[in-house]
Amino acid sequence: MFADSFVGYARWVWYALMHPGWDNFLLWLVVLSIVVWMVEIIVPWRRNQPIIRKDFWLDAWYMVFNVVVFSLIGYYAISNVVAHAVRSALLEVTGWESLAVIDLSSLPVWSQLLIMFVLRDFIQWNVHIVLHRVPWLWEFHKVHHSVEQMGFAAHLRFHWMETIVYRVVEYIPLALLGFGISEFLIVHVVALAIGHLNHANVRLPLGKLVYVFNSPQMHIWHHAKDIPKGSYGVNYGLSLSVWDWLFGTAWMPKDGRDIALGFEDVERYPTSFWQQMRAPFTRRPRA
Ligand SMILES: [Zn+2]
Ligand SMILES: [Zn+2]
Repeated sequence: MFADSFVGYARWVWYALMHPGWDNFLLWLVVLSIVVWMVEIIVPWRRNQPIIRKDFWLDAWYMVFNVVVFSLIGYYAISNVVAHAVRSALLEVTGWESLAVIDLSSLPVWSQLLIMFVLRDFIQWNVHIVLHRVPWLWEFHKVHHSVEQMGFAAHLRFHWMETIVYRVVEYIPLALLGFGISEFLIVHVVALAIGHLNHANVRLPLGKLVYVFNSPQMHIWHHAKDIPKGSYGVNYGLSLSVWDWLFGTAWMPKDGRDIALGFEDVERYPTSFWQQMRAPFTRRPRA
C-alpha cells in the first residue's frame, strides 16, 4: 500500500502538471499565488518593500517543497497506510466500519463544507497555540516565524513536521464526522486563498468582518517580534479570527505595517532551507 500510494501520488503529480484543471490543487496554488502576488505589486501596503523581498525565493521553494515534494516523498503514502491501519483496527476491535459517529452526508453539500471549514479551522487554532506553548514544538514552528519581511509566499514557509502534527490532530475529530483527509478540495482552496492573503503585503480593510476573518493587518501582529509580556503569542487564527476574539488572544494595538517581525535573536537563526530543516533537531528548546 505504501509503495502503491507513493507511485500513485508521483503519477498524479505528473498527470496534474500535464493536464491542468480546476479540480487540481496544484493549479489553484499556482493561480492564487500569481493573483495575490500581482495585487501585492499593484497596491502594496509597504511601498518600500521590494517585489522580490528578503527570502522570497526561499519561501517559494518552501511552497513547492511542502505541497509537492513532501507529499511526494512519503507523507501521502504514510497517511494512507495509517488511515487504513486505523480503519482495520477499528473494524477488528469494535466491528465498526468507520469512526463516523455523526452522519453529515444527508445534509446539503454547502452545509457540510461550512461545518468542515469552521471545525477544521477551530482545530487548527488549537494546534497553533500548542505549537507556540510547547518548547520542542515551538522549535519547529520557529521556521514560520523567522520571516522578517512579510509577503504571500511566507504562508507556506513551515517545517514539514507541522504538516504531520496538524494532520494527525485533525484526523480523529474529522473522521468522527465522516470526513476523510483529502475530501473537499474547495475547503483547502478557500483556506489557501485566505492564508496567502493573510501574509500578503496588502491592506485589506474588512470593517466589522475583522471579527470573523483573519487579515494581513491582524496576522502581522502574530509575527511581531515584540509580543505582550507573559504571553506565548497572539492572533493564532488561520482563516478565522473569531476564535481569538472569543477566547481573548486577539491583539491589534495599532497599525502594524512597519513593525519588526520574528522573535528574539531571529538575526542569528539559520537562513538556508536545509539548516532550517535541521535546526529543531539540533537546537535546545528554550526553558
Ligand atoms: Zn505562529
Ligand atoms: Zn503566518
